[in-house]
Amino acid sequence: MIIVGAGAAGLCAAITRAREGEKVTLLEQNSKVGKKILVSGNGKCNIDNKYINLNRFHSQNPDFVAKVLEGYDFPIVEKFFTSLGLELVEGKEGKMFPMSLQATSVVELLEYEAKRVGVEVVCDCAVTSVDKKGDTFTLETTQGTKSCTKLVLTSGSPAAPQLGGSNSGYAFATKMGHALIPRHPSLVQLCSEEPWVKGCAGVKVTGLATLYANGEYITEKKGDLLFTNYGISGLAILDLSREVSTRLANFDYCELNLDLMPELSKEKLTNLLLQRVKQESEKPLALWLQGIINKKLISIILEQSKCKVRTEDALNRKEINKLVHTIKNLKLSVNDTKGFKGAEVTTGGIDTSEVNPQTMESKVVDNLFFAGEILDVDGDRGGFNFHWAWVTGMRTNIE
Ligand SMILES: Cc1cc2nc3c(=O)[nH]c(=O)nc-3n(C[C@H](O)[C@H](O)[C@H](O)COP(=O)(O)OP(=O)(O)OC[C@H]3O[C@@H](n4cnc5c(N)ncnc54)[C@H](O)[C@@H]3O)c2cc1C
Repeated sequence: MIIVGAGAAGLCAAITRAREGEKVTLLEQNSKVGKKILVSGNGKCNIDNKYINLNRFHSQNPDFVAKVLEGYDFPIVEKFFTSLGLELVEGKEGKMFPMSLQATSVVELLEYEAKRVGVEVVCDCAVTSVDKKGDTFTLETTQGTKSCTKLVLTSGSPAAPQLGGSNSGYAFATKMGHALIPRHPSLVQLCSEEPWVKGCAGVKVTGLATLYANGEYITEKKGDLLFTNYGISGLAILDLSREVSTRLANFDYCELNLDLMPELSKEKLTNLLLQRVKQESEKPLALWLQGIINKKLISIILEQSKCKVRTEDALNRKEINKLVHTIKNLKLSVNDTKGFKGAEVTTGGIDTSEVNPQTMESKVVDNLFFAGEILDVDGDRGGFNFHWAWVTGMRTNIE
């Protein structure tokens, strides 16, 4: 058996098959295995999530996801890692991490186990083409021609090409007759052409971002909002980027409505501002607002609210209403994403209606298997993408 791609899915599949006595060769184009694992979770590796729920996974074929994950919740993954000698600890919202809080431990223990159970790990070996004649797959690689009777494609997606993200697996699969679901970057930063955004670069607030496409409400996410010189990032933005990405590809007009103070209701914020007004004070409004909001955001708020007054003493209820409305409804149009280079994952991929969810075997080509992100399944932030990679790696098997 040859496995193409030594990322999360490939390493897990290799170990699982070799433990069952299969002779496995694992080919990796990078000079070392598991590059995405190494940078994941800011170097801590958010390896899984304790609360696996189908609504955290996205695909054109949710039935396939349900069948693959049935009986394959977090404890199965935990057992796999315990068998490697890796202990896990829980963070916020069920996120699981290696106890060392080091992604390197995950990669080193996976690689050690793969070699221990006899997997031949070949790095610096990029597969350039795949062909099947009769029962034999022939692979052209940068280290010569290789052949096998069972082939597993775990070559991932084009997300993060700087770490090995590539389209090559899709090309091999489509040449052998597989269909693809359109691919878009996800868990990715968003770009805006609004001129004001550059002026707030570096400002981070805990806010609520609501996405509208062609004026229609799509979704909302709460969390960090980080303004940047190209647009906006932060956890809340990554969480809704999947929706933006697919809608922009559909030529929809996407706009974010940013609530910069979600913890304060409109009434509470209005009352707070009313209380702060000292009518005899001629303090400039911009300075007065610094008492509650980041300085870099103030000129935007004043401009967008079309506030007519410039000093505290001139404020009245009407002007305060305008300020409150803008603080809770700052509009940001989004014209692009940072693309696959900025993305953590890819939506879309191999059409799963052509894959057996029990064995991950192709229904189009005998003895061809898929696991991990190459498939049309992506997960939410929080360890769900690795869960998919580990589980599909484990399930790669002949019936
Ligand atoms: C910055 C970043 C942080 C992330 N953090 C997290 C996190 O904390 N938690 C989480 O759940 N998910 C996280 N993810 C997502 C997660 O890394 C992926 O979903 C997961 O790695 C997918 O596993 P995979 O094995 O399918 O693909 P990959 O891990 O991408 O592995 C595919 C491998 O195939 C190799 N390859 C590709 N083409 C060829 C070829 N032609 N020949 C030979 N080798 C080839 C690649 O070099 C690569 O090593 C993160 C992703 C990024 C980019």
